Amino acid sequence: MTVSNQARLKPGDSIGILGGGQLGRMLAMAASRLGFRCQVFSPDPDAPAFDVVQNATCAEYADVEALELFANDVDVITYEFENVPAAAAMVLAARRPVLPEYKVLETTQDRLAEKDFVTRLGIGTAAYADASSVDGLRAAIARVGLPAVIKTRRFGYDGKGQAIIRDGDDLQRVWIDLATRSAILEAFIPFEREISVIAARGADGHVECFDVTENKHGDHILKVSRVPAAISDELAAQARGIAETIANAMNYVGVLAVEMFVVPSTQGSTSGPTLLVNEIAPRVHNSGHWTLDGASISQFEQHIRAIAGWPLGKPVRHGAVTMTNLIGNDVLAYEQWLTAPGATVHLYRKGAPRSGRKMGHVTQVTPDRK
Ligand code: AMP
Repeated sequence: MTVSNQARLKPGDSIGILGGGQLGRMLAMAASRLGFRCQVFSPDPDAPAFDVVQNATCAEYADVEALELFANDVDVITYEFENVPAAAAMVLAARRPVLPEYKVLETTQDRLAEKDFVTRLGIGTAAYADASSVDGLRAAIARVGLPAVIKTRRFGYDGKGQAIIRDGDDLQRVWIDLATRSAILEAFIPFEREISVIAARGADGHVECFDVTENKHGDHILKVSRVPAAISDELAAQARGIAETIANAMNYVGVLAVEMFVVPSTQGSTSGPTLLVNEIAPRVHNSGHWTLDGASISQFEQHIRAIAGWPLGKPVRHGAVTMTNLIGNDVLAYEQWLTAPGATVHLYRKGAPRSGRKMGHVTQVTPDRK
């Protein structure tokens, strides 16, 4: 499937980015290297991405006039976060191409819609059920079993809006603490490891996947990513195949990340480990930051190429790569990282470190190990 009538941008054309965090900042830097200009839209006057672009719009996402002026100034619009309000996307899409298309966000903004979508493609997920009241939660537990993870359907990130439920837990309490009207219950997966695939899909429908990344979380936040993931070539090919199937089914243009659990084979089984999709992020992703220094083309450049209607690159990995997030006070040690062997330091200029806040990251490449 190809995307019709998408204009091919020329160097000097302008890309609008919704969101001004570190992802927007790194997207703008990649766009700049290819000769594009960027305009960032963010309600935060101190947005880190404002530093690296000449044109900035500081306004709320509900400010229709600001959205219209922003759209008129750019040739194509993209975003660095998935919770773009529908009304803002409509205003923008009436004026300029918005890529990836908004309908993708409608699926990925809702964990239930996302799981239904993945399941319809014949791809595995944790067993799940809708839970939109305490009674609904009880019924969901009867279907999914315990232990299980309850997650708000919308606006959850970095483990926010979720809790593990075990046998004997006070369900009334769990429901009140979650403070939501709509949630999804998922079976707790005793995974062997967590991996992700960063896939880019061009306007012509061509897909390029980066090598599979293995991710370690702490307090639900990504701490370290390693490439290649310690899985068989066969499983890695399967993981890339899943990401490609999802990107094609969404008629996606840009970079997306698919997070998956590797589940060990059950005792006595002759088949190998299996993959379950946990989450789709319709944007560049933290677990793809290693590509900035560890591959010939980064996830940010692939995304810019895709939305510009340019051909995707064929990324070559420079070796074994480790990406370490600098979270909260970790960033205070940045000077030690400056002299660590093979380290490339990225700081996002986020001001005072706050607990759980992503302040920067460090990439280390070992060229002689593939
Ligand atoms: P999420 O917000 O869905 O990406 O979840 C954040 C993290 O919580 C994941 O990266 C996992 O480490 C853990 N997690 C989420 N869902 C499950 C599950 N169904 N079973 C086990 N661990 C989970």
